[in-house]
Amino acid sequence: MSSKVSEILNILKRTFKISLNEFLAYKVAMETWDPFETLVATILTQNTSERNAFRAYFNLKKHYPILKPEILSKASISELSKLISVGGLGNVKAKRIIEASRYVLEKLNGDLWKLLKLGIKARDKLIKIPGVGFKTADILLLMIAKEPTIPVDTHIMRVAYRLGISERKGYETVRRALMCNLRRSEYLEAHLYFIMLGRRYCLARKPKCSKCPVRHLCAKKIK
Ligand code: SF4
Repeated sequence: MSSKVSEILNILKRTFKISLNEFLAYKVAMETWDPFETLVATILTQNTSERNAFRAYFNLKKHYPILKPEILSKASISELSKLISVGGLGNVKAKRIIEASRYVLEKLNGDLWKLLKLGIKARDKLIKIPGVGFKTADILLLMIAKEPTIPVDTHIMRVAYRLGISERKGYETVRRALMCNLRRSEYLEAHLYFIMLGRRYCLARKPKCSKCPVRHLCAKKIK
């Protein structure tokens, strides 16, 4: 199986060009290397398209050029919600950002590195932050702390299941199936390229199997 997953990844690398402008959390992580700003960006990507997440982020940055827990913990839900509502669930995400800011400020003295320096052991502690689930924790660990993990979003979940890499769709099942079948150095690429496959070909409702670049390696070709 491991050679099959690597083969799929290699085909995807030849097929797609990764642009920072298509991955908000990745762009923010690469450009700022700031865990708190990356955390806020990741919350903005929840349950929305990447395009709308970018718009929400840019609106937020226009008003708050520096995203720090000290600053966002004092914002009001209604004010923040107005700025980010273009990404959907404005109130919910505003509340998550404010609560996460307060948590980081009060429990970590404003510094997420206090957790990230624990390495992969920080995972269970990160998910205690309001608004942070396993995906967000794994994004911070992989992209900021450079720890070996693979954040799994809905695209990756679907693609890994259809390709037959994972027999079930649970977060941990898919994450472990991918990690077991790839080298550590491939984890970040796997995250990005499997999302690209999900966005461009392996669509949730109408996958474009006849044009899919990894069709010959797919267990569940749909049509
Ligand atoms: S062949 Fe179809 S189901 Fe399989 S990965 Fe490609 S688009 Fe998805």
